[in-house]
Amino acid sequence: MYDLVIVGAGPAGITASIYAARKKMDLIVISQNIGGQTIWSADIENYTGYQFITGIELGQKFREHLDQFAVEVKEGETATDVERIGDWIRIETDATTYEARVVIIASGRLPRKLNVPGEDEFRNRGVTYCATCDGPVFAGRDVAIIGGGNSALEATLQMMKIATHVYVFEATDSFRADPVMMDKARTSDNVSMFTKSKVLRISGDRLVSGIEVEVNGKPRRFDVGGILIEIGSSPASDFVKGVERNNTGEIVVNCKCETNIPAIFAAGDVTNVYAKQIVVACGEGAKAALAAFEYLSTKPKDK
Ligand SMILES: Cc1cc2nc3c(=O)[nH]c(=O)nc-3n(C[C@H](O)[C@H](O)[C@H](O)COP(=O)(O)OP(=O)(O)OC[C@H]3O[C@@H](n4cnc5c(N)ncnc54)[C@H](O)[C@@H]3O)c2cc1C
Repeated sequence: MYDLVIVGAGPAGITASIYAARKKMDLIVISQNIGGQTIWSADIENYTGYQFITGIELGQKFREHLDQFAVEVKEGETATDVERIGDWIRIETDATTYEARVVIIASGRLPRKLNVPGEDEFRNRGVTYCATCDGPVFAGRDVAIIGGGNSALEATLQMMKIATHVYVFEATDSFRADPVMMDKARTSDNVSMFTKSKVLRISGDRLVSGIEVEVNGKPRRFDVGGILIEIGSSPASDFVKGVERNNTGEIVVNCKCETNIPAIFAAGDVTNVYAKQIVVACGEGAKAALAAFEYLSTKPKDK
């Protein structure tokens, strides 16, 4: 029985871990990776104290800070079920089961899928959801980028420097990205942008070799060696039982990061907190750990 289990080691979970460790709570951190979405970001220019830092570097700094404390971290483990049972919380993972007096859910967001034939089959064999992580693999090839918001255009600006040609497909009749990024992409010789584009299927042999897209009602095939899907994300909250969620699946919390279930706290992008940003997630993680500490100090240790 731990005092605290933290699920997720992005900015929210790592900050919560640091605060909890400094309070000498008996804790364990379970996370698929360390750094969360920060490692997907190419350039970060709005995290206080750093005028500029890459996402990978900031993720590394977070890891080094966490390593200062003797916190047990189960990296690569996935929580599959979190539920309040009596006076404690049971956390099931793909490896084992943990029990804790309180839990902080800091599982962030996961990329949204297209749900078209070939997407799962070619995942990591030409289909990716992270331009920053995987973009360089497609150097010298034609690529397709799916989406029309800032993430898709950020990916376009990265890829137009290293790919041969970049096709950008947006499902609606207009792009929503910032005008500065749109101007850069539109004036580039090796970028072609399409609206009213519905992806039909992804094809290939061992690796991706093409994408079929209905453009303005007409099916077309584009030969590409990489497909970057940038159509947003959804909260990774499915595995938490019984908590209140809003209509987008975000866990509803109050200003102390409390959910509707006592002893289940949540922090960062997985919640309904305003502004999905690193500095906000860190602040929410700190609040969740302090609130969890306060909650425990009012409860007797024995169940
Ligand atoms: C491309 C991109 C660029 C961005 N650029 C910026 C920027 O410049 N500035 C800025 O402030 N913000 C930026 N953001 C947003 C910022 O990265 C997020 O707001 C922040 O990372 C949220 O932190 P978090 O800890 O709440 O969640 P996340 O960073 O999503 O971390 C969640 C963690 O939980 C783990 N996890 C998820 N589900 C489970 C599970 N079931 N079991 C175990 N572990 C699990 C994940 O592996 C991950 O480690 C960007 C985001 C993206 C995608």
